[in-house]
Amino acid sequence: MGVRKPKTIGDYGKWGLDIGVRCRACGRTAVFDAAEVTKFFVAKRWSLVAPVDASHFRCACRSRAVETIAVAIESRPKPLPPRTPPLAPLYIKVR
Ligand SMILES: [Zn+2]
Repeated sequence: MGVRKPKTIGDYGKWGLDIGVRCRACGRTAVFDAAEVTKFFVAKRWSLVAPVDASHFRCACRSRAVETIAVAIESRPKPLPPRTPPLAPLYIKVR
């Protein structure tokens, strides 16, 4: 890795980096596609400034003691494991 540090979330993808969320409690690292993180953060109106605000993430072990790291896209497993997206409602009705 060089000495450059991403200044925005968009830099990760441009520089061949995924965004990892590493848990200090259980050691798990969840790796995200930077473009998908960008879309999600834009929709939520969250800051796109790097380092990525880790407070938006929670580990699968439910710990919030997480930090974001840059992970080289080359270290993705091949093939990528299948994803099981969480079921999201079409819309929410209040009363
Ligand atoms: Zn964890």
